[in-house]
Amino acid sequence: MGVPVASPGGTAADAVGLEVLVRLLAGRGVVVLSGAGLSTESGIPDYRGETGSRRRGVPMTYQEFTGSEAARRRYWARSHVGWRTIAGAEPNAGHRAVEQLRRSGHVSAVITQNVDGLHRAAGTRGAVELHGALHRVVCLACRRTGSREELDRRLEELNGGFRDGPARVNPDGDAELSQELVDGFRVAPCAACGGVLKPDVVFFGESVPRPRVQRCYELVDAAQALVVLGSSLTVMSGLRFVRHAARAGTPVVIVNQGATRGDELAAARVALPLGAVLTEAARRVRAGWRGYAGTP
Ligand SMILES: [Zn+2]
Repeated sequence: MGVPVASPGGTAADAVGLEVLVRLLAGRGVVVLSGAGLSTESGIPDYRGETGSRRRGVPMTYQEFTGSEAARRRYWARSHVGWRTIAGAEPNAGHRAVEQLRRSGHVSAVITQNVDGLHRAAGTRGAVELHGALHRVVCLACRRTGSREELDRRLEELNGGFRDGPARVNPDGDAELSQELVDGFRVAPCAACGGVLKPDVVFFGESVPRPRVQRCYELVDAAQALVVLGSSLTVMSGLRFVRHAARAGTPVVIVNQGATRGDELAAARVALPLGAVLTEAARRVRAGWRGYAGTP
């Protein structure tokens, strides 16, 4: 007599998608590509999350940031407030399941579009941070990098009490503030040379460094499967890896609540909350789940 298989719920298509995901994970060599949806359960809102925290306006471009002092003041003021949310966030069940699967060899590499550092916080070493990390800052003049924690202390000294009020925060750590508040913010220059500091993240209008992109292509080339976690694949920087995998005949599974630009390329889709799906997938892989028992 078969043991009933616990399920995180969902439609028959979700159940089939989960089975495909488990089968691919069991085969090992799976590369994960994660996006903002993986971090929503850590309290970092998605751009288009169910909580309705749809981003108003467009993120600052690299050209705006480098082109004007007023733009940099606006960026750092908003980011100083948003940093509390990012710095205070902890990895969720989804990040932990990915790390568990990585340690057991089922996941061979993690590529993330997220700048929140939560894969690292979950213990995942060597995750490729495609768009950089908010935990580092870089000087545009002398190219020295430093920690955001250290810059945060300096900004707090210059702007005591600035971030006491509530604020809506975007997944890139950008909080929405009035112009009046922004105007009173004091920006900190590079402590070494006085140059302009920028978070070590890839802005809109800026390219992902070529060696980093190349590294991702190599990981995808070596992958037995590509699993997208919590990304609508809106931007090409992630979608290109899905297209690359599909062209090579490497199966793609997408776990995301909502449609994505990669759906037509996917062998299977699961449209359920990531923490539950990944925890269940890791459990079945651990239990040596095999076959299609229970498939409708
Ligand atoms: Zn410098």
